[in-house]
Amino acid sequence: MVQQRPSSRLPGFFKRPLAERAALISRWAGLDTSDQAVLLGMAGLNATGADHLIENVVGVYALPLGIATNFLINGRDYLIPMAVEEPSVVAGVSFAARLARDGGGFVASSDDPVMIGQIQVLDVPDVYVAAGQVMAIKEQLLEEANCCDLTIVGLGGGARGLEVRPLLDTPAGPMLIVHLLYDVRDAMGANTVNTACEKLAPMIESATGGRVNLRILSNLADHRTATAECTIHPDELETDELPGPEVVRGIVEAYAFAAADPYRAATHNKGIMNGMDAVCIATGNDWRALEAGAHAYAARSGRYSSLSEWWVDRENNLRGRLRLPVAVGTIGGATRVHPAAGVVLKILGIQSARELAEIMVSVGLAQNLAAIRALATTGIQAGHMRLHARQMAVAAGASGEMVQQIVEAMIAEGSIRLDRAQELVREMKD
Ligand code: NAD
Repeated sequence: MVQQRPSSRLPGFFKRPLAERAALISRWAGLDTSDQAVLLGMAGLNATGADHLIENVVGVYALPLGIATNFLINGRDYLIPMAVEEPSVVAGVSFAARLARDGGGFVASSDDPVMIGQIQVLDVPDVYVAAGQVMAIKEQLLEEANCCDLTIVGLGGGARGLEVRPLLDTPAGPMLIVHLLYDVRDAMGANTVNTACEKLAPMIESATGGRVNLRILSNLADHRTATAECTIHPDELETDELPGPEVVRGIVEAYAFAAADPYRAATHNKGIMNGMDAVCIATGNDWRALEAGAHAYAARSGRYSSLSEWWVDRENNLRGRLRLPVAVGTIGGATRVHPAAGVVLKILGIQSARELAEIMVSVGLAQNLAAIRALATTGIQAGHMRLHARQMAVAAGASGEMVQQIVEAMIAEGSIRLDRAQELVREMKD
């Protein structure tokens, strides 16, 4: 049963002191004292724990964890933890989520969590004949693949199908690629799919007389996409200088630029991933897998393009849609090993990997809206530099109350620069 929760609309949240924000989130999400200790960095992943995660560990590396507010996704309120070092991202998505909220929030959907495993078959006399030979034993292959993970099969997942893709012209000559489609339920699924591919290889070799080389998951998980849409009334977008419809027009033109030009699309999509990666990292998921899938999907037509679309509907509202592969889990990998990821999943209060994918794609769309709205109006530097000023003050050697004093001085002077921050630190320390 999906629990009813308080609103994620928390006006003035950003102005509260850190301790108050942490306490508020703890109450909102029903966190206990040990969860709170993890959030505040007093417990959580230490070097000994990290030593179990990867090789040659010498320490841990921390990132800020912020909370994006205002999200309403499929009628449910979410507070969304984001692990990111870049200023403006959390503020940007929270602002855009408020705009979307007034239009009913985000409407998100997702495919079944079906991943692709690839098996590379070489040294066959005819790749089309080999493709027929593989399809002739399809049922045995799927049955064998289902023996690899009885937990996933027991939960309703497992092998879903086979695809054969002859590649005639490669630097190594013709080869047959076999795709195993596998429903991994709430896992990201790399280990399950890789195990299944390795298991099928000898059967494919004996059916085709060929030689199998690679057996590995594809990160272009285009059977596992998630989609989010939102509707924004033009009045919501009005600024001091520009009426709403002009801002709408500027946003649609910004989208058109990204749709037509790979140089712009790379940055447009980077903005989307600013939001999605931060949730991916916070939940202990593999953000390289997410990135690889996103950019490969953006180039699926043969020309790299925008992952999102923006247009004006019949009522003159701004409408946005984002669709991309989202291969993330709520079980497996580091999701249940990294203590902070466990607390993050509690705050999200989600039931499945699909729900997480729907949240992430909504955050991606929100971040995209925040960025192109700023770019199409005042430009991003005005807001970004004010937020960036704090990082600059710290980089210049300020600490404690001096950070805010230097930020205010630089904003008042209109010169938010590292050399000025260093000068101010020197003056204040003298
Ligand atoms: P995993 O192997 O740690 O855990 C998944 C297992 O959890 C399943 O096999 C299943 O037995 C069990 N399980 C219990 N309840 C489940 C449920 N409700 N739904 C699904 N499974 C359930 O994790 P994984 O997702 O197979 O692998 C993810 C890891 O693989 C990530 O850390 C990723 O970095 C890594 N990886 C990625 C790639 C790639 O992206 N190309 C390649 C190799 C490894």
